[in-house]
Amino acid sequence: MGKRAYNFNAGPAALPLEVLERAQANFVDFRGTGMSIMEMSHRGKVYEEVHNEAESRLLSLLGNPKGYKVLFLQGGASTQFAMIPMNFLTEGKVASYVHTGSWADKAIKEAKLIGDTHIAASSEADNFMSIPDLKDIQIPENAAYLHITSNETIGGVQYQQYPDTGNVPLIADMSSDILSRPFDVNQFGLIYAGAQKNLGPSGVTVIIAREELIAESPKHIPTMLRYSTHANNNSLYNTPPSFSVYMVNEVLKWIEEQGALEGIEQKNREKAQLIYDTIDGSGGFYTGPAQVGSRSFMNVTFRLASEELEKQFIKESELEGFVGLKGHRSVGGLRASIYNAVPYESCKALADFMSHFQKTHG
Ligand SMILES: *Cc1c(COP(=O)(O)O)cnc(C)c1O
Repeated sequence: MGKRAYNFNAGPAALPLEVLERAQANFVDFRGTGMSIMEMSHRGKVYEEVHNEAESRLLSLLGNPKGYKVLFLQGGASTQFAMIPMNFLTEGKVASYVHTGSWADKAIKEAKLIGDTHIAASSEADNFMSIPDLKDIQIPENAAYLHITSNETIGGVQYQQYPDTGNVPLIADMSSDILSRPFDVNQFGLIYAGAQKNLGPSGVTVIIAREELIAESPKHIPTMLRYSTHANNNSLYNTPPSFSVYMVNEVLKWIEEQGALEGIEQKNREKAQLIYDTIDGSGGFYTGPAQVGSRSFMNVTFRLASEELEKQFIKESELEGFVGLKGHRSVGGLRASIYNAVPYESCKALADFMSHFQKTHG
């Protein structure tokens, strides 16, 4: 096998090597059918087994919360930005959002196309380098829901705890930190995530929602954009992204093998600690723009003294086999995305490279 890159891509991102190898072994002849999983009917027994397995495995990893359903949709998390207000923002209600950066902004913009929106809290004054204090979140009485972005992939800030929204459904875009740590699903009305960061390949968007919330959708919206269509058809109303769902199931198995969410969290914390310690111990050579209490353990953002030096860092890192360390084009700087599947060894190699780079350029 060829050498694997030190992959810090933001998304699509690293997948566990074990998962890739297992998928490879089953690629051509899946479970003795003489077909790839991609070549068979989504209405057949073999695919349906995989589909149902992925759903139940996800719920099981989340502690089998009562009254929740899993959906596998398409169109990415970006389509959810619109589907959420289309399904829930009914007459007389307002859609309430916590504004924490680039992804929250996109979600808000879509909701504005559908109806009245409200900003429950914002970290704009802080240049989105922190998560607002939970006690500063103001939810209007007629809120259809409160929407949060659990991890801002671009800015590198992450909720450490979630707000208690009482009777107002809490909706979270967890695209870049789902299953990175244990959390209480019962706090949420609906959670969504594009798979390509922490769950599998791109092409499937995973929804975990309270059944009663998605049982009925307004009839004036297109069939495919109603949660009820997918909820009532076990996400098999139309052709699902079958290969992506299969891969998600394999990634979920791998998470179980890592000691489930507790095991994954511990590994994630160790990985992030390595890199943040390198930043904090560099005497200012590296700086972390995110406020310490809001730092993401999935997307570590950092800067050097000049853009020139950052360019040099990227150039030298690429020569050493590192991939994806350039910050998002909208904010610049550097970013290491260290999702579940990024091995500790890659993070150790990065920390070592950072120290070496400081020695030669500091
Ligand atoms: C990547 C990402 C998205 C966009 O996901 P798509 O599947 O590309 O639509 C949305 N929100 C967050 C937090 C993300 O990290």
